[in-house]
Amino acid sequence: MERFVPEELLRSMVSGLLLDAGADRDCRVILSDLMVAAQIEGPASHGLAMLPRYLKALKSGWSNGAAEPTLHHMSLGRLHVNADNGYCQIGLARARKHLLKATEACGVAVLTVANAHHIGALRFDTAPFARAGYIAMAFVNSRAWVVPDGGTTPIFGTNPMSFACPRGAREPIVWDQASSVRAISDIRLVASQGGALREPSGLDENGEPTRVAREIVETGKLIPFGRHKGNAICLMVELLSAALGGGSMSFEVEEMEAAGASTIRPGYCMVLISPDTHDHEAFADRVDRLCRAIDQEGGGYIPGDRRFKRIEDAKARGVRVDPDLFAMLEARSGRNGFENGHDDMATRQEDCDDCRSRD
Ligand code: NDP
Repeated sequence: MERFVPEELLRSMVSGLLLDAGADRDCRVILSDLMVAAQIEGPASHGLAMLPRYLKALKSGWSNGAAEPTLHHMSLGRLHVNADNGYCQIGLARARKHLLKATEACGVAVLTVANAHHIGALRFDTAPFARAGYIAMAFVNSRAWVVPDGGTTPIFGTNPMSFACPRGAREPIVWDQASSVRAISDIRLVASQGGALREPSGLDENGEPTRVAREIVETGKLIPFGRHKGNAICLMVELLSAALGGGSMSFEVEEMEAAGASTIRPGYCMVLISPDTHDHEAFADRVDRLCRAIDQEGGGYIPGDRRFKRIEDAKARGVRVDPDLFAMLEARSGRNGFENGHDDMATRQEDCDDCRSRD
């Protein structure tokens, strides 16, 4: 039977395990926030299911749990972070203030991050900026899983991107999607339950499209969404993140084979736009009119809005956790999970220390 666990307790348990694995305070706060938020709001594949991968990477020293990211101002509106082999979101949190300042100065700013790990859902990177009034877009590449449309060999990563846009006084619009039909973590989750996917999402051993999740995990061959159109998006994400950001291109990733490796170091790109540079009122009005038209359409859905019900449910009943996973959390967090974890929670992403700056 599923367990429902209070949000703060869950964060505290996750944080305790990260502490055992060598994560410093910023790393614990940011990763536990991300995993618990994804467990609540979705996608479940990027919630607590990711914890073993984070722990393995940290414990083996593959990722740096005490990273000191360095910020480079390449021009007024162009920033770059070397994340010191830590998690991308820590570099992002520490560069936040500078990125906002650059966006205010130029109306638009671009941040790239390299030497960083990123296995989370991108919506949690973009949404906080939209909540602060900015349009945010994020792109990250991954490991070569995706066969270009019509091809036979994986070249692209599942290459997700996210877009978040302020919506007046309401919570922002946020969409977040892989460039493959489905994310590999999702396919693995379905495969572990022996299930089939809604639509063909990869190739079987004969190179034919298949819905059987297990067959796709075995071949390691996913396909882009929307055939040649998704193909173009995969290419764009690869160029904006890995080529521009300076991380490993998906087809060049070899480190997955290295001992202890369970994540890769892709490239990352975030673009921020200030709606104020045009006409804030007019923009907010247009966003509102469009959202109302979609709402009134009947069958229309504004991406991201499912999260509100999930957040409400988690507040009322606790966070839904698979019982085996909860037993593992309980067993493993006995020593540190409660005493140290709660203390971390005084800090939030916005409060992280600054990057070391190299102008
Ligand atoms: P989904 O296909 O589940 O959802 C994609 C987007 O479409 C979501 O924003 C979703 O909104 C929206 N959506 C779903 N149904 C509708 C509808 N009927 N009308 C309008 N919008 C709709 O996600 P993916 O499988 O493509 O991606 C899963 C996750 O995996 C993402 O969070 C992605 O960031 C992450 N990922 C991370 C990687 C990494 O290396 N860091 C690699 C690949 C993926 P809603 O949220 O409301 O359901």
